[in-house]
Amino acid sequence: MEATKTLHIARRLTQAGFLLLIFLMPVFDILRYDTATKELFIFGQVWSFGLKSGFYSDPSIYGAAHIAVHFFLKAILPWVIVLSIFPLLGVLLGRFFCGWLCPEGALFELADFLTLKTLGRRSLYKKKPNDPDIKPGSRLLYGVLALLFLLIVPPLTGIALTGYFIAPNTIWHQITTWNFTFGVKAGIIGVSIYMFVTSILVRHTFCKYVCAAGLMQMLFGWVSPVSLRIKFDRENLSRCTDCKGCEKVCFMDVKPRCPKKDINCVNCGECITACRRELGDKNLFSYGFGSNTAEDKKPMVLEKPVVE
Ligand code: SF4
Ligand code: SF4
Repeated sequence: MEATKTLHIARRLTQAGFLLLIFLMPVFDILRYDTATKELFIFGQVWSFGLKSGFYSDPSIYGAAHIAVHFFLKAILPWVIVLSIFPLLGVLLGRFFCGWLCPEGALFELADFLTLKTLGRRSLYKKKPNDPDIKPGSRLLYGVLALLFLLIVPPLTGIALTGYFIAPNTIWHQITTWNFTFGVKAGIIGVSIYMFVTSILVRHTFCKYVCAAGLMQMLFGWVSPVSLRIKFDRENLSRCTDCKGCEKVCFMDVKPRCPKKDINCVNCGECITACRRELGDKNLFSYGFGSNTAEDKKPMVLEKPVVE
């Protein structure tokens, strides 16, 4: 595997694996809530509060304390753990989850890629081309793939996410007999419309301004003194050829050479790959932990680029 691309390929594999996991979790009862039976499945087991009949029969203090402890362990503690996942991830890894795992972000990147290969720019709103050298023949091919993406991905996502609330075998049976209940129809159509619209018009704008998980990681990562960050080697700025490769690959529209504006950075590492492509081992980006120093945040003056 070409060393320059190792990081990029590792990220793509991680994204694909997590996307697959999200699609398959309800199928294997790893996580789903069955609205018909009102049961929550976690790793193949039905999660219950254990408040069976007879559970309240002991009116003593011991009985009340037993219920309180049970309720804390079975209801409150799991929620606290679930709610603290994204803040904790933010403190330690910034928006790493967004860049390496988020299934929606991965699909948005795929939509970006197909738009780039079809139109020469990553989004419908961009005026400047990101890649002006695409051959007309390949534009047609990618245009067809983009169309297939819009026909297949939204309903597939709708089916997968509906499976978190309605048993996947019920959904499958209804698809194969083409006989849908209201719940299945509403779930699939609702998610399909959402994915269709966001994949064309919204994409990473959603990640920047709407997604609660992303905003939590951003906020906690931003204030964290230990979080993972992309570091730019300002001391060797003279190596920079100003090829702008790092800016072109950044789907979050961060200016990677200016750490002051890194609030939307998802630690994807694509700027590292882009700079490696340009400068090889002398690339100017790396992963690192800790805050950017005041020196790092000063406006940067790019002197006459020096190509070594
Ligand atoms: S600045 Fe680099 S690591 Fe951050 S989002 Fe942009 S390309 Fe990814
Ligand atoms: S990719 Fe590297 S060489 Fe090119 S502009 Fe960015 S920092 Fe400079």
